[in-house]
This record gives sequence, structure tokens and C-alpha cells, in this order.
Amino acid sequence: MSAIIPITPLPNAAAASADGLGCHAGKDQMLDAAAKAGKSEVLAQYAADYPKGPHDQPQSMCPAFGSLRVGLRMRRTATILSGSACCVYGLTFTSHFYGARRTVGYVPFNSETLVTGKLFEDIRDAVHEQADPDKLDCIVIINLCVPTASGVPLQLLPKEINGVRIIGIDVPGFGVPTHAEAKDVLAGAMLHYARQEAMAGPVAAPRQGRNSKPTITLLGEMFPADPMIIAQMIAPMGLAVGTVAPTREWRELYAALDCKAVAAIHPFYTASVREFQAAGRPIVGSAPVGIEGTHDWLGSIGAACGVSQADIDAARNQTLGAMRGVLASQKIKARITLSGYEGSELLVARLLIECGADLRYVGSACPATPWNKHDADWLQSKGVHVQFRASLEQDMAAVHEFKPQLAIGTTPVVQAAKELCIPSLYFTNLISARPLMGVAGAGSLIQVVNAAIGNQARFDEMKAFFGSVGQGDEAGVWEDVPVMHPDFKKEVRRQFEKKQKKRKAEEMG
Ligand code: SF4
Repeated sequence: MSAIIPITPLPNAAAASADGLGCHAGKDQMLDAAAKAGKSEVLAQYAADYPKGPHDQPQSMCPAFGSLRVGLRMRRTATILSGSACCVYGLTFTSHFYGARRTVGYVPFNSETLVTGKLFEDIRDAVHEQADPDKLDCIVIINLCVPTASGVPLQLLPKEINGVRIIGIDVPGFGVPTHAEAKDVLAGAMLHYARQEAMAGPVAAPRQGRNSKPTITLLGEMFPADPMIIAQMIAPMGLAVGTVAPTREWRELYAALDCKAVAAIHPFYTASVREFQAAGRPIVGSAPVGIEGTHDWLGSIGAACGVSQADIDAARNQTLGAMRGVLASQKIKARITLSGYEGSELLVARLLIECGADLRYVGSACPATPWNKHDADWLQSKGVHVQFRASLEQDMAAVHEFKPQLAIGTTPVVQAAKELCIPSLYFTNLISARPLMGVAGAGSLIQVVNAAIGNQARFDEMKAFFGSVGQGDEAGVWEDVPVMHPDFKKEVRRQFEKKQKKRKAEEMG
């Protein structure tokens, strides 16, 4: 078995195996190593698909988590990581934290196996060992930072073994800026593979059979009720929701491609969009959130599918009346800032505004794309500062500038806001994990936001009770009342400055 693949020594393993490389090292060093190791083409594609922002390192969780999660959510799919043990530990931990309930495969390496090319041989052996067609449709191998920078050539793996598809992808933190976009790396690779299969001959039908109506593929991981809500909205236009991509099963990829149009609900799936476009499918951006968003989105979907104006109007009438009722009876009355890295931030922002919120800032770690332009324009027309590729510093500056009554954001933003006595909600767990679309989306968002804002009195009470206890030098667990030693600090600083001066003098002289 091992004879079918040449054992290729890694071109630049020594450079990338140097101590200290990883997401904590400079990206230039890693990019340089990867380019020398023959990964220029894939990195150039990533640079085109996922343009960088102001910071040169990931500011959220390891980007590879996005690809790993997409693989782990699929039936009959094994996902194997190739990377440093510390990265794999973190990724495995996070996977199980988010309920993976699936084994994460790992091919370990050390300097020797990396330098000699044995790592690739080990990966190939692992893939052959796992490729059981009774259990699997697909095996995904993910190169993390160091194997990517070393040029571990996953493209030399066989495309399939015993009928099990093999998909090798590079997902380095220095090439893919967010975990959201890393979902696209794997989803795009899978759609590409499935499209080639579909072009070569007949493929498996979806488990529940082909839909008799023209279908819309929804692009983006969303709350499970949202596809059902969207299905009800588009039914008057004679359309059905087909598949949500990234899919949960290999054969759903064919169904996803076999659609009338694609709704890019999450706007960062650039590689996936490329595959749908290659299959001749029109792409529609934005989503049915709020009254104006729903009105516009139904019109765009109808136009993309050649639906008559009368049927588009029927779909609009069915949903918009009920939504007006909800928005007339409940309101959000508060100043809010919003930031996140899921890619759906602009949609939530639209909905907040339609619910009455005084939204000042929306920051997304994801980039501007043609599929979120409509939302960005709409938000800007309402006076909202829209920041793509937002850094943590920009998100925090917005909190300080606008002094919101509620800060919705990432973990560090929420933590900082709470320290400032501002009620806050974690975007990923508390906003993303709810319906957003249609009437249910508006009702649910109003409820969670108003409940959080209502907590201000509790924050004030806690602040008054605790005062400055546990802040600054007094942070941590103390058995006695902390005693400050300003003299000691002064002395330490004096010695430090003395040493600095001495070092400078030595350098100069
Ligand atoms: S794989 Fe992830 S955790 Fe590891 S060095 Fe790269 S970005 Fe950091």
C-alpha cells in the first residue's frame, strides 16, 4: 500500500521546526517558510479569498477550529489533525467543549519526522488505516501551522482509498485569519470534490429524496430553527429550502449544488461561493432579518429564481405583516455596541436597529464581501460605524467612545465591559445560538437584549458593594487583606532601570 505514494522529503522542514513558531510568532517568518516549502499557490489563494486586517495574528481562537468543526459535524467523516501537540490539545479541548462527541484524529510529529519527511509517511499510513468504506465516506486531514510552513504535501495523498474520499487542506493561522473563514476552506474543498463527482456521472440522491420544488441552498451554520422559518417565508414563491452548507453528510453536498440559487446568509464563504458559481448557481447576499431586510431579501431571492412579482408580493405579505405586529408591540430602547467573529454580526445589527436599538458600532472580524455589502450600506445609511476585520482594540475603543448600555461582543470585550459596569452579552453563545430570521428572530432578540439591559441595577449594586476590591494589584486569591508595598515596588523599578541603562551602555560601547 505504501508503495503507491512517493516518500517526499519536506522542502523546508528545518526552517519551520525552529522553536517559537506558531500563532505567537510573526506571520512573516511563517509565510516565508511556507512559500519556500512550496505552499505559495495555496497561500496566494487564501490571500485573495481572505484579505487580511490590521493585526497580523489571529485574535480569536485558532482558525483551524472552523475546519475541524465542519469535519466533526459530518456523519461518516473522520477528521485528522497534523500539527504541534499544543495546538492539537487546544483544538481537541475546544471541540469537546462544543459537544463534538467524536474522536479527533492526530498524527504527531517531532523535529526528526518533520525534517526527514516521515511525518508525511505517517499521515499517509494513518489515512490508509482509517479508510474503511463501511464506516466512512470521507477523511479530512488538516495541516496546522508548522506542517503547512514545512510544506507537508497533503496534495500527494490519494484522492480516494477503497471508495473513501481523502481531502487534505492547509489551515494555518498565518494564512486564514478567522475560524469562520476556515469553515469555508473545508466546505469549499468538499464542494469542489463533490462537483467533480457530479460532473463525472450520477451521484447519490439526498437521504429524503430530491425536493419536487426548486430549492435554495443556505450558506452558513445557523440556528436550527432558522432554515425552517426561511422555508415558510419562501413557500408562497413556490420555492423550498434545500440544504444548509456546510452540510452534515457527504451526499448533501450534491443536493446543495443541485439548487436554483444560493443564499449566502453568512457572507464569508468565498471558496464555497466559487464552487456554486462554477455550477452556474446565482448567489444572493444578506438575509431575511427585520422588516426591510426581509422585504429586500425575498425580492432578491424571487428575482434570482425568476419568480413572478405577484408571488414575491404574496411571500412578503405573509411575513411582513406579522413582523410589523411584533416590532410595534415590543422595542429595544438602549444604546448598544456590537462585535463578533461569527460573520453574522451585520445581520444582528440590522435586526437590532429595526427593533429600535440605538446601535452605534458593529465590528466583525470577517472581511467585506459582495454578500454583506447590502447590509453594510444599509447600516451606514443609519449612521452606524461598520468595521470589517475589526481588531479587539477597535471593538474596545467603540465601547469607551459610545459608553453603551449594552455591549454585545467577544469574550475579552464582554469581560472588559463588565469591569466597566456595563451589561454585556457574549455574541457566540448568547446571540448566535438563537433564531435571527423572521418573526421568531425579532421576538427572541428583543427578549434577550432587554433582559440583559435590565441587569444594570445588579451591576451597580455589585460595584457599590465590592468597590475596588480585587482590582489591579489586589486581583487574585488572598488569604489575608492584601498589604501594598510601594517602597518595594519603587526599589524594584530602580534596579530594573539601572540594569536597562547598563545594558544600553554595553550595547553602545
Ligand atoms: S495551528 Fe492554531 S494554535 Fe497552532 S500555531 Fe497555528 S494558529 Fe496557533
